[in-house]
Amino acid sequence: MKQSILITGGAGFIGSNFVPEFCARHPDYNVIVLDKLTYAGDMSNLYECHGKSNYSFIQADICDMNAMEEIFTSLDIRGVIHFAAESHVDNSINGPRAFIDTNITGTFNLLQAAYSYWMTAPGQVRKSYESCRFHHISTDEVYGSLGAEGLFTEKTAYAPNSPYSASKASSDHIAHAFFKTYGLNVTISNCSNNYGPKQHAEKLIPKTILNCIALKHIPVYGNGSNIRDWIYVKDHCKAIDLIFHSGKAGETYNVGASNEQTNLSLVKMICTIMDRKLPRADGRSYMELISYVQDRAGHDFRYAIDSTKIKNELGWVPETSFEDALEQTIDWYIRKAM
Ligand code: NAD
Repeated sequence: MKQSILITGGAGFIGSNFVPEFCARHPDYNVIVLDKLTYAGDMSNLYECHGKSNYSFIQADICDMNAMEEIFTSLDIRGVIHFAAESHVDNSINGPRAFIDTNITGTFNLLQAAYSYWMTAPGQVRKSYESCRFHHISTDEVYGSLGAEGLFTEKTAYAPNSPYSASKASSDHIAHAFFKTYGLNVTISNCSNNYGPKQHAEKLIPKTILNCIALKHIPVYGNGSNIRDWIYVKDHCKAIDLIFHSGKAGETYNVGASNEQTNLSLVKMICTIMDRKLPRADGRSYMELISYVQDRAGHDFRYAIDSTKIKNELGWVPETSFEDALEQTIDWYIRKAM
């Protein structure tokens, strides 16, 4: 009989890049996507799955505990890959409540539902549920901010600075506690900044491309010197699939592609590619649209990931070249906007 795997947040950016390939690679699973469809979720992101026999969709809120319990029981859920979250730092500064509700309470609800359904007591797994796993997807932002040197490893102490990263850190601790206390089969991954198709227009890369197309100012925080470590979303998705199937219970895996860019250099790179792909009618460069705006409150200076553990233990490697994937990403947003 096919096993049912619950994928939360599958209509968002990373989830909707993950689900079509997961369905194709694992025809032996019933892939059930659960999403509240907040402003960040979009059913059209899942167009590749429509009509696929091993895919189905449920609109639900992970904050609704009764609904989560009902879904586990009625659909006999045998695995969870948990993407659903409020994910935009700026929104967490302006309105942190939804981050506390979804990222902390929602994650707790799912863990509790999994524990209640898969286990009978701490350390006691129901017969035939031994291989059921809960994979929790998190961010490198839980580690706080680096100076000019150093990398985040799995042993770096948590020091989150924004309501978003604090809510994710909290959910990581709860997930880990369910492993330690109850023996729930939990794995966690902490990944760096993703880029690729289907990302919401509020995030830096899509916003820059779309503002070029619309000839609108491209806002850059402060002087643009903040550094992020960028990974192509499909490389992250491969890491998640690998951890879900081969990771060790109770372990955390950092995922990153060792591709550090300042925000300003990234925006300039996009403008240069846009100048070539879609030259402005007035002959000017898109760089002229760059506009420096007041820095984000509590803005972390630098994130950079050490992925040695997942490379050595699970054989994962990022396969995508940044230059090629950035070009493809830009092509995707241009096609979508035109
Ligand atoms: P996203 O904002 O694009 O998508 C989140 C999805 O979750 C949306 O479809 C939304 O409708 C859904 N959702 C929100 N609240 C919900 C709720 N209460 N119940 C059910 N569904 C709900 O986010 P993303 O960028 O795809 O990120 C996915 C996960 O990966 C998040 O947990 C995020 O913290 C993590 N992450 C993201 C990045 C990144 O660069 N985007 C990097 C590392 C980790």
